[in-house]
Amino acid sequence: MLESGINLRVIQQYLGQFGATMPAAQRRVIDAIIDCRSAACGAILYQCEDCGEPHVAARCCGNRHCPVCQQGKAEAWLIRQHERQLPTPYFMLTFTVPSGLREFLRRHPRIGYGALFAASAGAIKTLAADDKHLGADLPGFFLPVRALSPIFRAKFRDAMRAAGLLAEIDPCVWTVDWNVNCQAVGDAAASLAYLSRYVFKVGISEGRIVRADAAQVVFRYRKVGSSRPRTLALATVEFMRRFLQHVLPRGFMKVRYFGFLSPSFSMSIEELKGRIELAQGFTVAAAPTPAPTEASRSRACPHCGEILRCRSVVLPRPFGSRGLLRPAVTSMPFAAGDESG
Ligand SMILES: [Zn+2]
Ligand SMILES: [Zn+2]
Repeated sequence: MLESGINLRVIQQYLGQFGATMPAAQRRVIDAIIDCRSAACGAILYQCEDCGEPHVAARCCGNRHCPVCQQGKAEAWLIRQHERQLPTPYFMLTFTVPSGLREFLRRHPRIGYGALFAASAGAIKTLAADDKHLGADLPGFFLPVRALSPIFRAKFRDAMRAAGLLAEIDPCVWTVDWNVNCQAVGDAAASLAYLSRYVFKVGISEGRIVRADAAQVVFRYRKVGSSRPRTLALATVEFMRRFLQHVLPRGFMKVRYFGFLSPSFSMSIEELKGRIELAQGFTVAAAPTPAPTEASRSRACPHCGEILRCRSVVLPRPFGSRGLLRPAVTSMPFAAGDESG
């Protein structure tokens, strides 16, 4: 939808208006979305295991900001997380920063967001280490959010001081409460299902775009607190500007794993589960692995419904920074498993 509706003339118009101050990461996202499922990304030749019928599919760009490429990723993530579920109640903590900090975070995303992750995880660890705050015996309670908020704010402030950036922040942000919310979400499966919707969220999902052409993009949205669906038409250049605000710096990790989810956690997950079960005095059966849905089974043979196996992939010739030019296409052997680009 996007790539067909937003043509090169609009891109040139956008670059003319914003190109000079545009971060390189945003330029790469434009290139990726334009190329997604076009000849520039190559193609994959599949063959049915059963009837032998060949099928050619266009490769997608795999860029994490591309609305087309996120389908199925949340599901794959969910299946990977399944093994690390613990037999215990889960809580979701949401840490919010005051609006006065937004402009600063836009200017310093890498160091700012990194410090927010560390400050929120650090605040939880600090408070959970103290028995008098931990609601271990109360099913609907984990930690007092009123006590978490000032620790979170102080840790972030310390990090900004250490980075020499404190003078760039409006001092008013230190005088207001930083909102922290804690919610009981049930078991691990419920919390993962909820999280997976946010982990791979992009600026706008493809399904919300009603139509797009060189002049306008029309999309569906909902107002906060209202269930009524509405549509909005934006000039294409303005739509692009808003969409690109969501682009993260290259290599920036949107999801970080702490505690038992961290790769450096020293205890095996089986031992941890065993200890929790022992402490609770009973065994809780793990939830079943989520069954793959239609989206993840989409590579089925249209003739007989059997699984399609990848036979070869046609890749575009490496071209460095393409700058919206279409590279020539050559045939190369395919390393099985990856088509995300
Ligand atoms: Zn077949
Ligand atoms: Zn894509």
